[in-house]
Amino acid sequence: MKEQSLRVAVIGAGMAGLLAARELKREGHRVIVFEKSSRLGGTWVYDPRVETDPLGLDPSRKIVHCSMYSSLRVNLPRRLMGFLDYPFLKKQGGDPREFPGHREVLRYLEDFARDFWLVELIRFEHEVFRVERVNGVSHEWIVEWRTREGESEKEVFEAVVVCNGHHTEPRIAEFPGMDTWPGVQIHSHNYRTPEPFKTKIVVLIGNGPSAHDILREISSVAKEVHQALRASDVHFKKLENRNNIWQHPVIERVDEGGKVIFQDGSFVCADIIIHCTGYKYHFPFLRTNGIVSVDDNCVGPLYKHVFPPDLAPWLSFVGLPYRAVPTLIIELQSRWLAKVLSGKLALPCHEEMASSVEELYQHMKESGRPKHHTHQFQQNKFDYENWLVKQLGLPPLEDWREQLYFYALKKITSEAGDDYRYTWDINKWMQE
Ligand code: FAD
Repeated sequence: MKEQSLRVAVIGAGMAGLLAARELKREGHRVIVFEKSSRLGGTWVYDPRVETDPLGLDPSRKIVHCSMYSSLRVNLPRRLMGFLDYPFLKKQGGDPREFPGHREVLRYLEDFARDFWLVELIRFEHEVFRVERVNGVSHEWIVEWRTREGESEKEVFEAVVVCNGHHTEPRIAEFPGMDTWPGVQIHSHNYRTPEPFKTKIVVLIGNGPSAHDILREISSVAKEVHQALRASDVHFKKLENRNNIWQHPVIERVDEGGKVIFQDGSFVCADIIIHCTGYKYHFPFLRTNGIVSVDDNCVGPLYKHVFPPDLAPWLSFVGLPYRAVPTLIIELQSRWLAKVLSGKLALPCHEEMASSVEELYQHMKESGRPKHHTHQFQQNKFDYENWLVKQLGLPPLEDWREQLYFYALKKITSEAGDDYRYTWDINKWMQE
């Protein structure tokens, strides 16, 4: 492909859409960013509203995009979260903490969009509801949207970059009896503050970063919190130094009397079950005739989690991997796809991309990893990030990034009782 400037549609003005837009613009592409809400920042725009269906199962519910809770502080040190050439600095009047609250991230994204003249690329209150190839031509895509007034319009683009986020469509735990269990069930997507849990007996399912935060927060007001975990070595125990937190293995069933029975036979009569069980990838606007699909939460087939071999480079996805540093992955993917679209970097041939995807699937199968972990990174080095850096011809990433991330990851995933954000002296750690 010779060097070219394309007309590109970016769907979403969260972190991924903003970084993609900046890189595409830098490469000389003509970019339009479609954003369904009236603000940029995506999930970092805190919204106190919750959905009408607290478990998020009703497809006709009014969707609230944000999954942030009021007290949320970032779980990675700010120096890791900053973009490569735009550090996440402490600013006057802001939140100076190494692990600041969500408003500080929003402010950072707003500053970034302003400093790189991205705001003028965004069409706010434009919700995309159809992305489809024109008569099967790979580099002609109809993008159709509706405005807040309900008017719909469409335009044709040469390339589409999907940046709609993946923390809005809840994944829930399933267990016998859940439909007739008399208590309240909610997904963490609809958790904002601990007040509704005051004096309640709560079962919390999950062990990820949000589960740990929410558990800590509700245990300060709830009567009892019982955490149900999937790990094989979990057995019924009370958390050390806590008088109202217990751990159990997964829920076996619940009954109409309000009982929650865990796999080891332990049980509790609970008022609320909160599912901190993650999210599903969801692209309701995407029509590819099955070329790209979501199967058991695996978006595929995608070469390096970005390009579907059959539609590359005209359709791409940014920000799908998790259990990684989102900002770094998003920035590197954005740089890569922008240069691929401008013809400065070449993708391998179709067969090579397809067999690379097959290899990944095969490897996952052989190592017993479930399909729904396809985009969950289990690396203990920045293999993927370093691969992208190499493609881009950038200098190698500084060692501290990898070391700091994997050290932080250990803290994030360690027992839910304590908050490392208060005790970890990062400056000291960096000097050691
Ligand atoms: P989003 O931020 O979700 O943005 C997607 C955008 O697309 C939204 O603005 C949405 O309105 C828009 N959109 C969606 N559909 C359409 C459509 N059809 N038409 C037009 N616009 C559309 N990351 C960290 O680095 N550190 C953290 O500490 C951290 N904590 C987190 C805590 C929680 C509770 C959650 C949910 C996530 C956290 N993350 C954290 C990850 C976070 O999701 C990423 O940092 C990043 O914000 C993802 O950006 P995104 O652009 O992919 O998605």
